Amino acid sequence: MADYYKILGVSSDATPEEIKRAYRKLARELHPDVNPGAEAGEKFKDVTAAYEVLSDPQKREMFDLGGDPFSSGGGFNSAAGFGFGDIVDAFFGGGGQRGPRSRKRRGQDALIRLQVTLEEAAFGTTREFAVDTAVVCTSCTGVGTTSGAAIIDCSMCAGRGEVQSVQKSFLGQVMTSRQCPQCQGFGTLNPHPCAECAGDGRVRTRSTMSVQIPPGVEGGTRIQMTGQGEVGPGGGPAGDLYVELIEIPHPVFQRRGDQLHATMSMPMTAAALGATMELETLDGMAPIHVKAGTQSGATVTLRGQGMPRLRSSGRGDLVVHLEILTPTHLDAAQEDLLRQLSVMRGEDSPTGQLHEQASSLFGKLKDAFTAR
Ligand SMILES: [Zn+2]
Ligand SMILES: [Zn+2]
Repeated sequence: MADYYKILGVSSDATPEEIKRAYRKLARELHPDVNPGAEAGEKFKDVTAAYEVLSDPQKREMFDLGGDPFSSGGGFNSAAGFGFGDIVDAFFGGGGQRGPRSRKRRGQDALIRLQVTLEEAAFGTTREFAVDTAVVCTSCTGVGTTSGAAIIDCSMCAGRGEVQSVQKSFLGQVMTSRQCPQCQGFGTLNPHPCAECAGDGRVRTRSTMSVQIPPGVEGGTRIQMTGQGEVGPGGGPAGDLYVELIEIPHPVFQRRGDQLHATMSMPMTAAALGATMELETLDGMAPIHVKAGTQSGATVTLRGQGMPRLRSSGRGDLVVHLEILTPTHLDAAQEDLLRQLSVMRGEDSPTGQLHEQASSLFGKLKDAFTAR
């Protein structure tokens, strides 16, 4: 049995589109009208048979399983069962739906991107933006004709949108349908198109829109504005407009979901003695209480001072990471005080201490997984 893939010069995992393309190319070279030799005629029959099998999912599967799709009735040379329409479609580029296409179609969806600050994402806002779009032509209100004129049936195809023609091929006379050249498949003609929109029923313009951004959005959030995209040709309905948000990184706050993180530095003395300091949060100044003896890397959590939740109520937390500053540029008196302190605390000949793994975050996580 012939190897149909080899005949068409495609791989055994070729897509239907690749198979169609390969057949079309070979058929153009080998068609008896172009290439009258007997050898080409035989080859044309072979590639056509190969195409008939590989373009039909059932026959292709049968062939892939080692069967012969031509063995049981409806062989290539018998008129019955021959996938004639498919072959004509592939050869003459037809196919697709039949009948006239509508002049009135839905407009395209559009996507624009807007940058938002963390504050805007947190509290929501209304933003205006300009967008290039298509709007209904006011001269003709979308119909596409000059006033008083009408859309009429196409005389060439009598409103069908396609015309038939008879072509001679080695297979005999073949009736093919193609798009009507006079009406481009619409089945209708617009003899007096609107001057403003050239008959499209819409004009391009730059328009200003506004979008409501709800609290809690984040980068990548898409807001759908139904019916705010381009209007369709011929007075067709508008598509949707999507606004995709891009979050501008904040200089101070890092966002992780509904949590905000910030790093705050404080003097060593305040960390040792304890202090209440002011911190500028998204909501304004807020007190932050640091206990005496706070270590570098410790965190203080301000409940409900993080990001609002988009799909539920409440807010996340603000986690403040503390960084303890070692005093520098000591004058003589300060240095003297610190030396006295180190002697009083027995720290004047210090020894560094290596931490055990268990006291690090990594160790704690490990413990959590191995604990029983
Ligand atoms: Zn118009
Ligand atoms: Zn026509």
